[in-house]
Amino acid sequence: MSEKIIKKIKTSLLIASVVLAVLFLFRLIGTNGFLSEIENRTFDLRQRIVSKYKTPNKDIVILAIDNSSYEYIVSTYGAWPVPRDVWAKLSDEIEKYKPKALIFDLLFVQNFKAFGNTDSKLIKSVTSNDNIYVSMNFDNEEEGVRKPIDLPDGLSINIEGDSSVFKKSDILNFTNVRPILDGLLYGTDNIGFINIQRDMDGVTRAYLPIFTYKDKFYKHLSLAAALDVLGVDSKNVKAKGKNLILSDGRKIPYDEEGKTYLNWYGEQMTYDYIPFWKTDKAIKEGDTKFLEDNFKNKIIYVGVSTDSMSDIKSTPLSRRLPGVETHTTFLNNILDNNFIQKTGITVDSIISLLFILITALIIIRSKSVYRAIVSIAAAVCVYTLLTIELMMFFNLWVGLVMPVCASIGTITISYAIKYILTSRDYEHTYKLAVTDGLTDLYNHRYFQEQMKLHIENSKRYGIPFSLIMVDIDFFKKFNDKYGHQSGDAVLRQVAQTIKKSIRSADVPCRYGGEEMSIILTNTRKEEAVLVAQKICEAVRNKEFELATGDWTHVTISLGVATMPDDSENVQGLIETADKCLYLAKENGRNQVRA
Ligand code: GH3
Ligand code: MG
Ligand code: MG
Repeated sequence: MSEKIIKKIKTSLLIASVVLAVLFLFRLIGTNGFLSEIENRTFDLRQRIVSKYKTPNKDIVILAIDNSSYEYIVSTYGAWPVPRDVWAKLSDEIEKYKPKALIFDLLFVQNFKAFGNTDSKLIKSVTSNDNIYVSMNFDNEEEGVRKPIDLPDGLSINIEGDSSVFKKSDILNFTNVRPILDGLLYGTDNIGFINIQRDMDGVTRAYLPIFTYKDKFYKHLSLAAALDVLGVDSKNVKAKGKNLILSDGRKIPYDEEGKTYLNWYGEQMTYDYIPFWKTDKAIKEGDTKFLEDNFKNKIIYVGVSTDSMSDIKSTPLSRRLPGVETHTTFLNNILDNNFIQKTGITVDSIISLLFILITALIIIRSKSVYRAIVSIAAAVCVYTLLTIELMMFFNLWVGLVMPVCASIGTITISYAIKYILTSRDYEHTYKLAVTDGLTDLYNHRYFQEQMKLHIENSKRYGIPFSLIMVDIDFFKKFNDKYGHQSGDAVLRQVAQTIKKSIRSADVPCRYGGEEMSIILTNTRKEEAVLVAQKICEAVRNKEFELATGDWTHVTISLGVATMPDDSENVQGLIETADKCLYLAKENGRNQVRA
């Protein structure tokens, strides 16, 4: 296999492992991490855009205890809460105009002393109309404070199919419940729960349609009312493929925690708000027109919107939305079949993987970093627009943060790899440029550079250095006898022997032909002579292998020159070393002269 292919395989393996590491990290960060909080914010932004094109259901109205109503209540009835016969009267009057549903987002709790027989009037009104809904609240209060009661069978809902999500989910399993008036609790099945879900940042983006209590399932107040308004089976639903399927086939999607993401319609007052005080006055004054205009055929959600009772929720579109309006939004989503379907970790991982590949491809293809970054940024923008469109037209919440992070990660890693590879290439090219191919010693050009450098340093710092010139003895004859191939082989082995005999700071070079030169840094003449003798001896004692596989001996002659003793320039030093080398040859070869 060629080195290029191996290099490519190594790079691909590196990228693949980085991708896996990034994806694994995403999984770890999962649904509760920092990234998912940012993802939630992108959901809010998308909702802000999408909500401009969505209109709330006109059948729904909110009968609100607003600021003026609160003031009216205090002056008319003394204090909040309103005596319960007032609600009884209000229900009875509104019922005359056949509303589709009258839903109380007010807790008529058991232990309220003040009302006496007014409770029974309310109970009578609620239990004698099958379109009135009242609320309860689950909690996890300790048994010491309040014993958990068994809820009447009629309140629970039967879930066919895979209901394990609702049993498993921590956020919708409750251990206790705060009871409401017995007469209501045992007198009607039209009771729903008003617990809500908040994300880590306190914002309510999703609702829990189903709650688990004592291993049974219960409906949210909005779901309870919606099932009846839609005329579908309110006792049985199916759970299949992360959807609650109603008897008319309508689907309510939920995620792995049992949360249903809502489409939000706008800031406060997207619904018609009818103040309690006006309604109460209309009832007292017999203003039938007011009642008919506002409540006939309507779905009426009764709740507080006044600041003084602080039932305010944070939502994607508004930091201050009365709880009754968030419940209304959930109801509206069910009626209009308008839920957000959130993509899971698998889909998001696949999209992220695609992003990693596209980003890598752009980087590989682009000639400049600038171009690559602009192209990737353009791809991210197009994807962002696509996610908005998907939310607008298909109610889909596809992950945005994970793919973008994957892209940024890929850019960083790719350029890091690219940088490492180019710098390695550069090192390789540089080595080629200064090395002699046959002997693997430095080449002549490098030798000249190094000589100049050594002379400069020697002059500046007064450090001596030496030069040894080496020439193989009778090499012409050797070539004639054994052939050029064997000559080359021996030349290479002599070079290696020289390398092994010197320090790493010394510079061994091929001067030309079968002549070699060694610069010995920081070395005086006596030491240089010793080194030269050591080399001479090493070569003399070594057997060299020929191209034929046979073994033989060669010898070398060496001449030594030292700066500053012999000369203070390149030429002078080389001449001196050459002269000494000549003397060594003259004197019988296989020796050192200085
Ligand atoms: P001496 O140095 O002992 O005086 O005798 P010599 O025969 O070695 O003489 P000289 O140094 O002048 O000869 C150089 C010869 O070395 C010439 C050429 O045949 C041989 N030679 C030079 N470069 C190479 C090379 O790269 N490979 C081979 N195989 N031979 C080379
Ligand atoms: Mg020679
Ligand atoms: Mg020679």
